[in-house]
Amino acid sequence: MTSTSTIPSGKRIFVNRTLNMNHIKLIGFDMDYTVVTYNVPEFENLAYKLMQEKLVSERGFPEEILQFKFDPEFIIRGLVIDTEHGNILKVNCFGYVKKVAHGTRFLSVDEGKKLYPVSSIDLNDPRYYIVHTLFSLAEGYLFAQMVDFFNKENIPVNFRKVFNDVRETLDQVHQEGKLKGAVTEHPEKYLQKTPETVEALKRLKKSGKKLALITNSDYDYSKKVMDYCFTPFLNSPWQDLFDLIVVVSNKPLFFQARNKFLKVDRETGALSNHYEPVRYGNIYQGGNAKYLQKNLSLNPSEILYLGDHLYGDVVTLKESLGWRTGLVIQELETEVPGLEKNSELMKNISLKMAEKEQIEDELCLQKEKYLETLSSASEGETENYHKIRDELRSRIEKIDLSLQDYIMQMQKKFNPRWGEVMRAGNEESRLATLVEMYACVYMSSVGNLQYYSPLKYFRPPRRLLAHDPNPDDYVGHGTPEDIFEIQRS
Ligand code: IMP
Ligand code: MG
Repeated sequence: MTSTSTIPSGKRIFVNRTLNMNHIKLIGFDMDYTVVTYNVPEFENLAYKLMQEKLVSERGFPEEILQFKFDPEFIIRGLVIDTEHGNILKVNCFGYVKKVAHGTRFLSVDEGKKLYPVSSIDLNDPRYYIVHTLFSLAEGYLFAQMVDFFNKENIPVNFRKVFNDVRETLDQVHQEGKLKGAVTEHPEKYLQKTPETVEALKRLKKSGKKLALITNSDYDYSKKVMDYCFTPFLNSPWQDLFDLIVVVSNKPLFFQARNKFLKVDRETGALSNHYEPVRYGNIYQGGNAKYLQKNLSLNPSEILYLGDHLYGDVVTLKESLGWRTGLVIQELETEVPGLEKNSELMKNISLKMAEKEQIEDELCLQKEKYLETLSSASEGETENYHKIRDELRSRIEKIDLSLQDYIMQMQKKFNPRWGEVMRAGNEESRLATLVEMYACVYMSSVGNLQYYSPLKYFRPPRRLLAHDPNPDDYVGHGTPEDIFEIQRS
């Protein structure tokens, strides 16, 4: 028997809303980055190279672009690209911009505030593009490098147009044969075999759950990829593991529209018209979730769907059909243990922050006293106030140095430039807010489900509110900007 506390922290299921697995009859899985894991740097590097070539040969971009090199760590999930100004933003739960890079150059806090002075940005504005999936790492970085390039060369361009070219080019790269051809020709380079995921699915199936694969990829590609990742760990073809397969599902429209289902021949992939209701045991192309749910006589609360695309797999589905939802965020496999390792550092930060807060309070008191007597203050009194104030300030500065050191040590566990995916400084990142709102559960991998009973009652932890007593008396941590904010103001 596995108890949750013995499961490695990065392999746990994190619960936002109560989920009784006993009630779930059908579990749908997205394929790419959900049951199939890519070797991110390799795959995105190839997408990046193909984009470079196409942008130069087909869209007239300067040849210098071919010299750019890909950095798989520059863009992280959840970042917002301001396509109009060529900026990459980390945004918190209130839509407030916490960190800004213009192209690849990070701006100081003050520079960032000048550009985004209002308390929150409107992310519904089409000028903002949100990195919802790891498939966007290459396009985000290439765009940032283009911004640098056009700035350096003093070439006046419309950044929004440049971004659209990059975006459309990535669409083409995914649709044309080279990228997927390379994956299927050298799967060992671009894909990772994850036997844990296969085990998790087998355990769910044994308990009587119906399993579905619902992917935007086409059948030919899915077949090759699944053959590589699943078949070595199964006694029968991978298709037998699933009670239903839907390819070219066209999510998020699959959850919103009423597109027709076509039937796919399992061996040849040939398509035929399909007029009957959707039935288990078949492979379909296209279609829609509403008919699927109706034809299989299921309630929305009896279906759980797991995917990696926050918008395409989770937000739209929750909003339009209300199925139970799970999000796969593979970054958590290293970030959650990183948080654990940081707990000692966090305690040190809390102690230093408490010390700092005390001095800040003293500073306020001294200033208040001085302001009260300002009109009648003698030169000596003013001098005395300045002396006390400077002493207090220099103590704060010393504390800030220690804090800075702790923070640097902590941030090393996460993306060195942007920090944790789920945090923006001290607050939740906007990504974390959407995950909380729309994903009933989230996890680093579908394989994590193998540690839990398929009948488990998942319960969320009690959430701490600002007024709740905090067991660790934890004042807070975050980027240097958060912690040093008080002192600057
Ligand atoms: P799924 O995650 O299994 O639904 O499949 C995702 C599919 O979308 C894969 O076939 C990807 O190649 C494709 N894809 C990912 N990003 C893009 C994009 O930016 N444009 C077009 N297709 C994409
Ligand atoms: Mg996916």
